[in-house]
Amino acid sequence: MPSESSPSRPALVLATLNPAKGRELIELLGLVPFEIRLLAEIPGARLPEETGATYAENALVKARTAAEQTAALALGDDSGLEVDALGGAPGLYSARFGGPGLDDRGRLELLLERLRGVPPPRRTARFRCVIALAGPSRAERVVEGVAEGVIADAPRGSGGFGYDPIFFYPPLGRTFAELSDGEKARVSHRGLALEAARRLLSE
Ligand code: IMP
Repeated sequence: MPSESSPSRPALVLATLNPAKGRELIELLGLVPFEIRLLAEIPGARLPEETGATYAENALVKARTAAEQTAALALGDDSGLEVDALGGAPGLYSARFGGPGLDDRGRLELLLERLRGVPPPRRTARFRCVIALAGPSRAERVVEGVAEGVIADAPRGSGGFGYDPIFFYPPLGRTFAELSDGEKARVSHRGLALEAARRLLSE
């Protein structure tokens, strides 16, 4: 893949078609010795459905698909929220929890409804993010980041996205939606997984 600004650096393609997520990944990756490209910028690029049985499978399929389409190293990710009182749900299905009729707010309210009456000690949960790197002439690598928290009894804060307003993070005494982008990046599952990926990419 051509790189106009620094031809000596190899390309790293971010396997997401969501430009907002791509920008967040670029921000969190920080300085790596790669020319970062977004799959979304490549005309005709596509990604498969997330049908894997694990986060790692989904992340790997995304990375492999992007690598095949670009002949470059690619980074794929998958993440979800695991609630202990719901046996780990919604987990892999976090984006689709409650079916296609719900938006982020609807999913969050459904989750609160399912946890109604569950006392704080049993409202433990974690966000998990798995990142995979795949590409020509490189061994595939998978890294993970986890953020442990508690599901609040009502939404708080307006930052972030998804389940952030109900994910209370005890070490900072706030929900993820009450953190600045920088604060969230330092402690979040995605921030931690990307930090591990960044270390691999800098090796
Ligand atoms: P994916 O990794 O883009 O497939 O995200 C899966 C789903 O998990 C998202 O649609 C959100 O519902 C949820 N999720 C993942 N990461 C976060 C986060 O940082 N905050 C809030 N929700 C998240």
